[in-house]
Amino acid sequence: MLEERGHRAFHGRQLHRWIYARGVFEFDAMTDLSKSLRAELAARCEFALPRVVEDVTGDGPDAATKYLFELADGERVEAVLIPSDERVTVCLSSQVGCAFACTFCATGMLGLKRNMTAAEIVGTFLAIRQRSRRRISNVVFMGMGEPLANLNAVIRACDLLTEPDGICLSKRKVTISTVGLPGRIRKLATHPDPPKLTFSITSPHDHVRASALPVAGRFPLAQMHDALGVYAARTKHRITIALLVADGLNDRVEDARALHRWIGDLPAKINLLRYNEAPGAFRRADERAVERIAAELVRLGSTVVLRKSRGRDISAACGQLAARTIQPEPSASA
Ligand code: SF4
Repeated sequence: MLEERGHRAFHGRQLHRWIYARGVFEFDAMTDLSKSLRAELAARCEFALPRVVEDVTGDGPDAATKYLFELADGERVEAVLIPSDERVTVCLSSQVGCAFACTFCATGMLGLKRNMTAAEIVGTFLAIRQRSRRRISNVVFMGMGEPLANLNAVIRACDLLTEPDGICLSKRKVTISTVGLPGRIRKLATHPDPPKLTFSITSPHDHVRASALPVAGRFPLAQMHDALGVYAARTKHRITIALLVADGLNDRVEDARALHRWIGDLPAKINLLRYNEAPGAFRRADERAVERIAAELVRLGSTVVLRKSRGRDISAACGQLAARTIQPEPSASA
């Protein structure tokens, strides 16, 4: 933009650093730009970070904070800041609502309104960084929407989040989480330096998975295994398989054995998460059932991370805050 207006390219790099590396959103404060350039920019451009309309912080020293944002057209999305001892993670949304209508998910009840742009996605990150004053180390695309259904914008956002002269997150600390779109996983694998990938499997049984995820009927687990194999081979990344354990859905020891069999030779670790109750079909699993699943997977030789439940007190599962404030619409078909 600056070159088009007759300025030197390095002014663009200075501007980029002010915005993305330093989080400065006032042209007057950009002191290494000339006064005339600052005035020109102020006349021509404006910063339009998504507006925080609500934030809710849980209890305790490492409490998560959930943000509800309003975008320029009035649509609303969520993001969550999750501090812990060793990292500060932001969970970002990629779509306004979601078309996939998973029965356990509050966002699925909203239907898909539209994709977010890369600017809106990165804007939510910048707004949280500015407001929280935290040094954010990790980003996960696990908020509202299916990131692989908005792949181009999500990839552009990942590139901006990891750009060395800007926000400069480590490439290894940005993760896309998907319910399973094998074609998009193969496309993501062609990126020269892709983000990490988490597959949220829901169940290692096709019929159970299809009962909770309408999309699963189109993309059975064998197809998912093939696509993840391609991704792992091309990227040399280890994949994370997330199992959101819910009462009666996937909380039997037999489910753990089936999951271990399905993973087979995929280079993968397993994240076990407890379901945060949403206005959906399932309930939180018994703590002992989650521990039995973890123990069985470990006995079989899997690498398992048992995630602490975070944000139950702030409706931190994706879509829960928006679902409290947005009237559900009939879901679009996947
Ligand atoms: S779990 Fe993800 S893909 Fe399924 S409805 Fe919710 S946001 Fe969409």
